[in-house]
Amino acid sequence: MGVSEDADIVVVGGGPVGLATAALLGRLGHDVLVLEQRPEPVPPDESRAITWMPEGLLLADHLGIHDRLAQRAVVRTAHEFRRSPGGGPLLTLHLDRMRHRHPYSLNLAQHDTEVVLEAAAQAVPGVRVLRGFTVKSVSQDATGVEIRGIAASGAADGARARFGVVADGAGSTRRGGAAMLHVAQRFRDYGTYSAVADVELASDPDRNDRSWIALDPRRPLGAFAFGPRRWRLVYRVEGEEERLRAVEPDFVERMLRRAYPDAVLTRHLWASTFRLGQGQALRYASGRWVLVGDAAHAMGPSAGAGMMVGLLGAWRLEDALRRHGLDAWERAVAEYAEGQRAASERVQSANALIFRNIALRNPALAAARSTGLWLAGHLSPAGMRMTRRETLAGLAPEVTEAEKLAVPRS
Ligand SMILES: Cc1cc2nc3c(=O)[nH]c(=O)nc-3n(C[C@H](O)[C@H](O)[C@H](O)COP(=O)(O)OP(=O)(O)OC[C@H]3O[C@@H](n4cnc5c(N)ncnc54)[C@H](O)[C@@H]3O)c2cc1C
Repeated sequence: MGVSEDADIVVVGGGPVGLATAALLGRLGHDVLVLEQRPEPVPPDESRAITWMPEGLLLADHLGIHDRLAQRAVVRTAHEFRRSPGGGPLLTLHLDRMRHRHPYSLNLAQHDTEVVLEAAAQAVPGVRVLRGFTVKSVSQDATGVEIRGIAASGAADGARARFGVVADGAGSTRRGGAAMLHVAQRFRDYGTYSAVADVELASDPDRNDRSWIALDPRRPLGAFAFGPRRWRLVYRVEGEEERLRAVEPDFVERMLRRAYPDAVLTRHLWASTFRLGQGQALRYASGRWVLVGDAAHAMGPSAGAGMMVGLLGAWRLEDALRRHGLDAWERAVAEYAEGQRAASERVQSANALIFRNIALRNPALAAARSTGLWLAGHLSPAGMRMTRRETLAGLAPEVTEAEKLAVPRS
């Protein structure tokens, strides 16, 4: 299928945020064309973003996909900060004690999220998702935007639209759509690497409704369930030379032994290391183009919020376009950009604290931190404030507190 035809809006990149943007803007009645280079969603074992926070689940209600996500997910109701992997909690974030319509997170592989979002997008009349199409250039003139690229067949092809959305991920400002529009980013680097290793076990080694992280200054380590017998380990990488070592099978197994000495590993699913850092595009808009998701604000995997903030941003964009209309694009996009930058900066400040904690190696400072966490855990307003911050409470656009508590219409 060629794409040499017009649409109201073209979306570059069909990851979670591009797909959600298409579903949301399509529901406003616009023709939306998504161009995605991957022939399939992210593979099932390459789990990547695994958490739908309570606030993100409000968007799931808005799109009518909560139950489809829930069918594929593990329900998490608490997150613990521990001194050591087997130790008791210093502080527990009780999601189930929040005043929220969804006092829990749904944890599932990004593959499943993309499958559900793509089905939701394709179900909207006027939305098309074209896979296997690699965008090579984006441009604009007085009447619209244009993309050129290579289709799945290998042939050069292109499309025009009135407006464009750049949703091609964290590399956008380096080599993707944002770079082609001359949008640069400011990147904050926290000076260390962390690793993510996803494993399948013979049985769940622990309750799967709670995750934990042990803030051991020698090497922080955490565990999160995201499917039946599927667990994610996160840990700090010590020094440049260990970076690739840290994801080799025997190393991952050593981390698993630390987390759960009796666990029986049946399969290594996926493992990768990441520099702790986060970026902000200097502009979220360029004429007829707007940036969403990691293309606008690359969050860094270790804080586990990038997909959520991006999805809530897509909702913010829909909200602005619904109120102002497509003809008032610049005004709507300016409003989106202002609100979304404030929201993402807020989350990035909280992430910075997490990154600094992961990087902390000094035992005396770590002991002081443990005391602080223990105290926060025993002062319920402080614990609840942290819970709300970590679960991104208040980040959804448009929705009033009363609506958040109301039971959704099915
Ligand atoms: C290990 C890991 C764990 C994470 N955990 C979490 C978590 O638990 N919770 C959370 O909220 N976030 C998490 N994140 C972050 C999350 O994955 C990202 O923030 C999220 O995927 C961003 O979505 P996006 O759609 O903006 O970008 P992406 O997911 O990067 O999607 C961009 C899409 O654009 C496509 N693309 C790129 N270039 C082109 C081109 N030239 N032409 C066509 N298509 C193109 C790509 O193929 C891709 O599908 C994690 C990330 C990682 C790596």
